[in-house]
Amino acid sequence: DIGSLPAAFPNLSPSILDLFSLSGKSAIITGGARGIGFVISEAYLQAGCSKLAIIDYADNDVVLQNLRETFPKAHITYHHCDVRKAEQVEEVISTIHADFGVIDIFVANAGIAWTAGPLIDQETDFDWHNVMNVDLNGVYYCAKNIGRIFREQGKGSLIMTASMSAHIVNVPQLQAAYNVAKAGVLHLGKSLAIEWAPFARVNTVSPGYIATELSDFVPDELKNSWYAVTPKGRQGLPRELCGAYLYLASDAATYTTGSDMRVDGGYTAV
Ligand code: NDP
Repeated sequence: DIGSLPAAFPNLSPSILDLFSLSGKSAIITGGARGIGFVISEAYLQAGCSKLAIIDYADNDVVLQNLRETFPKAHITYHHCDVRKAEQVEEVISTIHADFGVIDIFVANAGIAWTAGPLIDQETDFDWHNVMNVDLNGVYYCAKNIGRIFREQGKGSLIMTASMSAHIVNVPQLQAAYNVAKAGVLHLGKSLAIEWAPFARVNTVSPGYIATELSDFVPDELKNSWYAVTPKGRQGLPRELCGAYLYLASDAATYTTGSDMRVDGGYTAV
């Protein structure tokens, strides 16, 4: 009977479609000013989020202004923060918590690709640590701070952006540091899902090749060779990830934790 609801959720709507609504919910998205994070921010607001905080490295008043104009009823804030810095992450999350009261959804999405070259010999120690600091340690700092809040609230959904590179090694792209950092995110997701199962859900999304500035440095020839081996035969668009992030954030996913959603045009299925 798809209509019956778990006793633990007496306030859930009996309408299946309503379960996908984020009406009245509050969310924080790191790396929300550009690329995938920005499209998720817009999607969450369209789905009814009443409070949304973007955390990003760059100051970007234009993004904030535009979102406030498009979604005048929502309370939208923008916070400059370097996710590599534990103190900054702690401070910014505590500021948003004090403002929002309750935080329902946290998307740890900020990330960088490493561009010096495919081989580990081309990588400096700085490159290695920088990728780890943004892509893995930054996610860890966010998770640790939001976990305390979720525990206190007795609820919350943490979604972390991993990558198809968490599952496979791209040839000839290689880039060991990125692959290792993203595999770390994938496993951090599973670990926290188990630790926090009594009060929160934790899941990851693993995008494939998505059209954002992250892959601007990749020559067209290499990109075309990737698409040739992607079953869907093309690059994905940021908006094609929205369904995964919306589902995992929503009450439609009350039994989904410790999972990873691959949105990669079939790339890792081959
Ligand atoms: P973009 O480069 O378009 O956006 C990345 C965002 O992260 C930017 O807003 C950037 O801020 C922010 N950011 C980077 N470093 C920091 C930092 N130290 N502190 C705070 N914010 C930071 O990339 P995507 O949207 O493509 O990537 C989003 C996520 O998706 C990343 O985790 C990436 O690894 C992952 N991913 C992307 C894929 C793709 O093909 N695009 C494939 C698989 C995974 P600023 O504007 O200031 O630079």
